[in-house]
Amino acid sequence: MQQEVRVRFAPSPTGGLHIGGVRTVLYNYLFAKKHNGKFILRIEDTDQSRYVAGAEEYIYETLSWCGLVPDESPKHGGNYGPYRQSERKELYRKYAEQLISAGQAYYAFDTPEDLEKMKLRVKTDENTNPQYDHSVRMEMKNSLSLPASEVDQLLSASTPYVIRIKMPENENITLHDMIRGEVHFHSHIADDKVLLKADGMPTYHLAVVVDDYLMKITHAFRGEEWLPSAPVHILLWRYLFGEDAMPEWAHFPLILGPSGKLSKRDGAKYGFPVFAMSWNDKSKGETTEGFRERGFLPEALINLLALLGWNDGTEKEIFTLEELIDSFSIEKVHKGGAKFDFDKAKWFNHEWIKKLSADDLAKKVKTVISGKGVAVKDEKQLYKIISLVKDRCTVLPDFWEQSFFFFREPDQYDTESIKAKWGEDKKRFFENFIKELGAIPEWGSAFIESAFKNLAAVCNIKPGELQLPFRIMLVGGKFGPPVFDIADVLGKKETIERITKALLKFDQ
Ligand code: GLU
Repeated sequence: MQQEVRVRFAPSPTGGLHIGGVRTVLYNYLFAKKHNGKFILRIEDTDQSRYVAGAEEYIYETLSWCGLVPDESPKHGGNYGPYRQSERKELYRKYAEQLISAGQAYYAFDTPEDLEKMKLRVKTDENTNPQYDHSVRMEMKNSLSLPASEVDQLLSASTPYVIRIKMPENENITLHDMIRGEVHFHSHIADDKVLLKADGMPTYHLAVVVDDYLMKITHAFRGEEWLPSAPVHILLWRYLFGEDAMPEWAHFPLILGPSGKLSKRDGAKYGFPVFAMSWNDKSKGETTEGFRERGFLPEALINLLALLGWNDGTEKEIFTLEELIDSFSIEKVHKGGAKFDFDKAKWFNHEWIKKLSADDLAKKVKTVISGKGVAVKDEKQLYKIISLVKDRCTVLPDFWEQSFFFFREPDQYDTESIKAKWGEDKKRFFENFIKELGAIPEWGSAFIESAFKNLAAVCNIKPGELQLPFRIMLVGGKFGPPVFDIADVLGKKETIERITKALLKFDQ
């Protein structure tokens, strides 16, 4: 029997979710669903100093808004829990100690001052960022450099310590990456990373390997920024569980902004969202805008993120989630960074607004409209409005700009635009038109238009000269969809009332 595919997204709850993170979720999710596997959300909260309240909830909300719901997570449960690393604390120590017994890790008792001193001592023009590695470890205070009796003594006196991996001095480490092929590392340049901290918590490096093993993860996919950590992870796999048990790896390309890696700052600088949903950093009193709040549809965000670093090899750009699951393959993910283009992002949203039905959009449009203090009373009318204006909308707030006049009668009229050609004949036309409208058997734009044109012919006025005044009567200015469609949506009563009111104003 083939092994069940199990992938994971493993964020640290330290703040809002950048679109790079959402794309990592998406690629994991697509891969899992494509292979009838499981998508797991694991909360990597071992660094308590970086923990931010609310960040975990925010992750659930983002995933649910995007429709990328995990099969297993702290919230959704599952057979491999707990899924929050802080709740697994006790589990990691034995692996760190196993490494010590095998001579692959060691206790380090150095104080922050010791570390500082070492850095000052070793720092040179060439070595600007000294690290705790094979070149210095024997000069430090650890279970490799100190006699066993002293180590025992320090341990029994409860001296604070960390456990560090003993990186081999001269070893080639090869990573087989599903996107990049073979990536080679040399252990010589790597530092002796801390695996277990003084507070007994594991660091990310130990926890990620142990948990990927215990949670039976078959494929570990993550952002390119984790590539430099891969050699440590591979060694830990080799030492603890054997490389045969190791998941397959893939590192996704960076998402690039206008100036290198797309950063949170780019959002503020260039005026586009960088997070999926707005994130309010209470400690800094700073809000980073999200795509959701800017009026993007989750369908569009998913679609555009899927194509930031992947395509199916054809020109096709609009994909539903189902279609993405069908066509996705990790091997087709690009190696190079993908440039984020906000205009293209808006294009995707526009396409999705056009693609979705009035029914699909109604709830969201209602929220936009009620946000303006207007209650939508007539659902049927709302559907008509949406169908009429959606092709003109790029983001959801555009629905207000494109349709506010259906909910509010004009309080001002752009009479300047028609003044030159306004006269008794036209006034009479509209007075008669009111009567014609009253007698229309079936309300609809085609009937309104033909009544309008027939009457214009009788009055011997070009219909083209009457359309602008008609529009201004209905909406107040030179904007909006075709005027007969506007009248259709407004309904007979409202159309007649608006013409009547406007005629009074036009004379003033
Ligand atoms: N906890 C890491 C993060 O915050 C996860 C990296 C990984 O997937 O291995 O992104």
